Amino acid sequence: MERQYDLIIIGAGPAGMSAAIYASRAGLKTAMLEMGAPGGKLLKTAEISNWPGIKETEGAKLAYDMFEHSTIFGAEYVYGNVVKVEDGEWKKVICDDGNVYEAKAVIVATGTQERMLNIPGEQENVGRGVSYCAVCDGAFFKDQEICVIGGGNSALEEAKYLTQFASKVNIIIRRDVFRADVIVQEGIKNNEKINVITNSVPVEIKDDGKKVSALCIKNVKTDEISEIATNAIFPYIGLDPATSFLSGLDVLDDYGYMVVDDNCETKVKGIYGAGDVVAKKLRQVVTATSDGAIAAQHAFHRIKQL
Ligand code: NAP
Repeated sequence: MERQYDLIIIGAGPAGMSAAIYASRAGLKTAMLEMGAPGGKLLKTAEISNWPGIKETEGAKLAYDMFEHSTIFGAEYVYGNVVKVEDGEWKKVICDDGNVYEAKAVIVATGTQERMLNIPGEQENVGRGVSYCAVCDGAFFKDQEICVIGGGNSALEEAKYLTQFASKVNIIIRRDVFRADVIVQEGIKNNEKINVITNSVPVEIKDDGKKVSALCIKNVKTDEISEIATNAIFPYIGLDPATSFLSGLDVLDDYGYMVVDDNCETKVKGIYGAGDVVAKKLRQVVTATSDGAIAAQHAFHRIKQL
């Protein structure tokens, strides 16, 4: 199947949905391709408390509201797992099911994906006690001891969220300081359910054949290995950009993030990057939505000039 649009947006997180609002409201025939549910990282975030105008809301609620808004001006929401983007007068967006979409401009807003621990026992226990989404799976571990790996904002915020279910949450960090912002660190201070284990890295996940039974950690100072009996492990050790389908375009930096100018446009004219997928310092919902608006507005002017 081949279909033509003015603009194709790849990814329906906050950046993609904002781009859809701006582009379709400006009159562009717009499609938003997404392979999962709309919302991106919002769907995996329990609480949002830095979206201006709303003091506190749930990530899933904000995602739903944004999705409703993103389609009211006519943008189409289309299922698609993109495997390649090709440049040309008409840019081609190729999906794994063989569908090819053509557009005069493309905004890539595919965000990031969770980094894996890459230790024995991880892969085979995903869904059996290893989870990368506290909001999705936390409630399965009521009154149990949970392990969270990582010391960044995500790890600490999700650890705090998990304390409402767990009897105890161990946060395992590889240094003796957190990477998370001070305000996020404040949020877990004095929480009696949280236990921080410093200078330690996970080395193996054990299971009983059906589910996770223990996490083995190594103290990086002493090399001592110890075992924590647990059925639940939530790694939050950072993110990598979801850009493998762009490898043919020379628009990525050494880490795989998209390099864009002030208009969110790459050096390939008419191909834009927006949101967490872009090389930048601050990855937040507000910065993602801002990118989406800037990219859509510039794409609109480019298309009108053609
Ligand atoms: P992050 O800030 O990169 O933190 C990753 C954490 O995992 C660090 O503590 C890191 O340790 C640790 N780590 C990395 N590899 C590891 C390994 N192999 N074994 C054990 N530990 C490992 O990632 P993030 O928390 O996912 O955040 C990503 C971005 O989103 C950040 O820019 C963050 O600020 C932003 N974010 C913001 C908010 C908010 O503002 N509320 C919420 C969530 C995320 P080291 O510190 O030792 O490197």
